[in-house]
Amino acid sequence: MNAPLYGAIEAGGTKFVCAVGTGPHDLRSTTRIPTTTPEETLRHVRAFFEAQPTLTALGVGSFGPVDLQPTSPTYGYITSTPKPGWQNTDLAKHLQRELKVPVAFDTDVNAAAIGEHRWGAAQGIGSCLYITVGTGIGGGALVNGEPVQGLVHPEMGHLIIPHDRTRDPYAGFCPFHGDCLEGLAAGPALLDRWGKPAEALPPDHQAWALEAHYLALALVNLILTLSPERIILGGGVMHQEVLFPMIRAEVQTLLNGYVKVPAITDTIEAYIVPPGLGDRAGILGALALAMRQA
Ligand code: ADP
Ligand code: ZN
Repeated sequence: MNAPLYGAIEAGGTKFVCAVGTGPHDLRSTTRIPTTTPEETLRHVRAFFEAQPTLTALGVGSFGPVDLQPTSPTYGYITSTPKPGWQNTDLAKHLQRELKVPVAFDTDVNAAAIGEHRWGAAQGIGSCLYITVGTGIGGGALVNGEPVQGLVHPEMGHLIIPHDRTRDPYAGFCPFHGDCLEGLAAGPALLDRWGKPAEALPPDHQAWALEAHYLALALVNLILTLSPERIILGGGVMHQEVLFPMIRAEVQTLLNGYVKVPAITDTIEAYIVPPGLGDRAGILGALALAMRQA
């Protein structure tokens, strides 16, 4: 008998990545659909999946904020996103109805955390964080292998962190908070502050010490709140490899010996790590979501 086929969508603010597959070593027909209007984008998404063989389930990891309360009338919607045209957009129920397939829905970062737990850098580790530093900043947390979910899903990208305006006069770009973590440290903040996109800033640029400082402040707060057993940092900005050693050192400095465990004091290189699935964490996470649903 053939292995069951699953669908996966990594729904992002710039592009929707769609794929089908039976597992991480068999991901087929990957396609990228630009995120334009919901009508146009979803039309292309539907056409992609309609051309595939029958799926057992479809997993969707979406940019947010999203509604994850199963009893809510707007379950599976993108809710208060600043992205024009995408407020109150039905994703999960629309796809379930139109494609006639069970849909598992979660945030993009929860999906990535689930994928990393299943196949990547958090295998065998029940409590972990996946944080993306890209156009925005988002975080997904697993506790005992399950995504943390409460009133809404966690919004770690908008943590309020100390901002020394003498060292960094930049006001931050978050439309809701100005200088929250995302406002100070996501890719667009680097572009605004330094006048060049993050990928054009050389490894010895002063931007990176400041970036590592902000990310370390956030990580320390998350370590003290959730006590994750591993932290995975992904997203475009984390391609700047100099950030990893700087963030690890700054986390140790800020904790100042208070959390006395070898993972932090001795082997922090294995504690704060890049995604094991690389840039496929999001799409494989969506596939893992579909497989959990089935
Ligand atoms: P998105 O968050 O839109 O899904 P990415 O995770 O690729 O997309 O993040 C895009 C951001 O990452 C942009 O702000 C870009 O400037 C930055 N970026 C991309 N490549 C690099 C790189 N090599 N070094 C540092 N920053 C990068
Ligand atoms: Zn914010």
